[in-house]
Amino acid sequence: MQSIYLLSARVANQIAAGEVVERPASAIKELLENSLDAGAKSVRIRIHQAGKKCIDIEDDGCGMSSIDASMALKRHATSKISDVEDLQAIASHGFRGEALPSIASVSRFRMHTALQGGQEGIEITVNQRGETEAAPATWRQGTRIEVRDLFLNTPARLRFMRTDKTEEAAIIEVVRGLALAKSSVAIRLDVDGRKRLDFPAADRGTRVRAIMGDEFMKNAMVQNIDHEGMIVDAFLGVPTYHHRDSTRMLFLVNGRVIRDRPLVAALRAAYRDVMFHDRYPLAVIYLEIDPADVDVNVHPSKREVRFKTPQSVRAALVTCVRVALATHGQHVAAHTTQETIQTFSGRMATLTSAPASAQASPMNYPSVDQSNIEKPLFHCPEVHENKDESSNAYAAASTPLQLGQARAQIHRRYIISQNSEGMVLIDQHAAHERINYERMKQEMAEGRVMPQRLLLPIPWQADALTAAWLHEQKEELQVFGVDIHADRDHFSIHSVPALLQDDASLALVEELVASCRLIGAKAEAGESGMGRVLERWLGNRACKTSLKSGCSLNIEEQSQLLRQMEKTP
Ligand code: ADP
Ligand code: MG
Repeated sequence: MQSIYLLSARVANQIAAGEVVERPASAIKELLENSLDAGAKSVRIRIHQAGKKCIDIEDDGCGMSSIDASMALKRHATSKISDVEDLQAIASHGFRGEALPSIASVSRFRMHTALQGGQEGIEITVNQRGETEAAPATWRQGTRIEVRDLFLNTPARLRFMRTDKTEEAAIIEVVRGLALAKSSVAIRLDVDGRKRLDFPAADRGTRVRAIMGDEFMKNAMVQNIDHEGMIVDAFLGVPTYHHRDSTRMLFLVNGRVIRDRPLVAALRAAYRDVMFHDRYPLAVIYLEIDPADVDVNVHPSKREVRFKTPQSVRAALVTCVRVALATHGQHVAAHTTQETIQTFSGRMATLTSAPASAQASPMNYPSVDQSNIEKPLFHCPEVHENKDESSNAYAAASTPLQLGQARAQIHRRYIISQNSEGMVLIDQHAAHERINYERMKQEMAEGRVMPQRLLLPIPWQADALTAAWLHEQKEELQVFGVDIHADRDHFSIHSVPALLQDDASLALVEELVASCRLIGAKAEAGESGMGRVLERWLGNRACKTSLKSGCSLNIEEQSQLLRQMEKTP
């Protein structure tokens, strides 16, 4: 008795559809990719009911002959590769020959196409039962495909559909992604008869602006680099322009929008020193890489790729960000500037409504009638009251010091300085923490964190989990200059990093251990793990301490801080 059979083509296609077309958005992705592969200059997509009812996609690409059109609906039929060697160098989106038959097997499908330069066209329909009909049709440029009632014959799949809004959002993401990939192609999406997206053919920068928005472009650094044969073309948000998650980080590898956690991690790492640890940069990154160095055949809908040398890809990315930050890193997000100006204009209004003396020079502000300001805004040293001296100071500020000349302190927290380009506002605590952080990092990189022995060891009652961790891993803390002794479950802190000796030692060590436990001990997390521990540890401290009220700094101390900052990476 025979119990094993070959599946019919239709069942096989429906199974493949389970992978290739999970939802309307994935059908649209495949169809749009086909249009792009066909060299279309313009593609128009119309959807109804989030693509569940109808997807209609029309392109002006090369089209297909009648024979090819019938062939295209067979499983594993493709014009894009013919040999396994071709898999080494895929330049097209498609190559698996699965999309059309899969989609046709789970919908009512109709395709009108004609070969460029041919005489006539063909129209092929596949009904819900999988019956195919082909008929000659008029010639017209390109291909038009209509997909109706997607998944109606596969109720299991239909049940997995989300709301129209969700499916629509997924479709928009797909279209935006491919629009980023091919800026030279005009792409339009109509949703239920209304224009939803419309991207005219454009250069890359214009397309990125159209998709990411003016705000992004205003806050983006554009950077191109060539790294070991890879070309990185990146639009990178400035550090002060950030997002709550990684959804605004887009990677395109050889024109394919991909998701790749290591790339996300690498990009975050590249920004690590200039961004709070729970924020994410925004970026659009185009990577051109030898197709032989990237395997695109690892995911049925090709959303993931595998790099032959992932570390060099990461290095290319990190280098690109570093170069960009070094060149434009001082730029501040437009909205930050806006907020600052607004904050100040509120104050200014109060000030200018005061007697005419407010008009004289900025440094006269403190002498303005202060009764309507709760406390002195400016901690302003005598020397600058003098007109001559302050014009000297102005001259000094025009020499190329990045952060210029410290002029005043406000709220015992911010330093205002003047440089040749304008005014710089510095959060002194953040600056101070940052300088310490960079020094610690440097010391750690050189393997010479200076410990400061404590005269009296500090006893530490660690909770049970922490105690267990300490028993096993406390030696790991020595690289941070922290020495802990254990006597059964009694711990004592014997040294802290010399740089941080002014901080409350117990809190400092508790936070370090918490960061280590969260991120993993140095040994398992490696170099970058140590960096992440450091970042989290000192980053958290920077947030906390900068909330505390500040301390007043005299002008010498202020400028000392600025000079140190200039020397700090
Ligand atoms: P793949 O894209 O992996 O080759 P598909 O099933 O998506 O497989 O398409 C099969 C073939 O049909 C393609 O290789 C291509 O030759 C042809 N084709 C599909 N869509 C179009 C189109 N819009 N214009 C021209 N040819 C197309
Ligand atoms: Mg395809």
